[in-house]
Amino acid sequence: MPLTLTSLGCASALPTKENYFTAHVLNIRGRFFLLDCGEGTQLRLRQLDISLGSIEHVFITHLHGDHIYGLPGLISSMHLLDRTAPLYLYAPKGLEKMLSFYSEFSGRQELSFPVIYREITGAGLIQILEGETARVYAFPLNHSIPTSGFLFREKSVRKSKPRSVAYCTDTAPSPEITEWIGGVDLLFHEATFLEQDVRSAAQYLHSTARQAAQIALDAGAGKLLLGHFSSRYKETSAFLAEAREIFPNTELSTEGRTFSVPRRFISAT
Ligand SMILES: [Zn+2]
Ligand SMILES: [Zn+2]
Repeated sequence: MPLTLTSLGCASALPTKENYFTAHVLNIRGRFFLLDCGEGTQLRLRQLDISLGSIEHVFITHLHGDHIYGLPGLISSMHLLDRTAPLYLYAPKGLEKMLSFYSEFSGRQELSFPVIYREITGAGLIQILEGETARVYAFPLNHSIPTSGFLFREKSVRKSKPRSVAYCTDTAPSPEITEWIGGVDLLFHEATFLEQDVRSAAQYLHSTARQAAQIALDAGAGKLLLGHFSSRYKETSAFLAEAREIFPNTELSTEGRTFSVPRRFISAT
């Protein structure tokens, strides 16, 4: 009964020699959810032996290129692999129009599978999917264009407590989200900057490692994963040290790492 989050990339606006753009894959009891799809996402999926065919739902936080430029290639590969199952895309307004641009000029008549768009609008915490293994919710973040965070709540399993994962990027620190994701087991939160560059974080509506840790603490999260690191920093260990001062159970969501959320059994009374 696995529940795992695997990092496919942890860069922000510019990739580095080591780091691809931000993307993650969430496995909830054998159902796969892709979270963002920057350039290189399908290559990382290949490298990690995660089948493209296993991806059923793709959740796009916002339409900045570092989160979506991998989508045309991923969809094209799925078509070449003769996929027939529908692909569900959840994103703020505009994704369908952006992707239609590629198909219009590619000379391709039709995909081998249906693509179903779900536009995310509205305020507060909104349920956007009732899946077989989880319910998925969207909520607004604080960034320069409309951006959604996502909360995955596992459907209950006999004798164990439902687990949850939240995904928050890109965003300035938003204290209001702590209510929506309160008690989450695993929180991915962007940390584009270190606290020494807190002014840049405020200017571009991003977070520092310290601010991300404070959100995790206020939300009562079980574990914090940091990612979406600016390429201005030569190495990322300082992110970990800064965040752990506030929230000790922090890890870096660097490429290829997989984080499990263990089952917690309900004791019989
Ligand atoms: Zn970004
Ligand atoms: Zn962005």
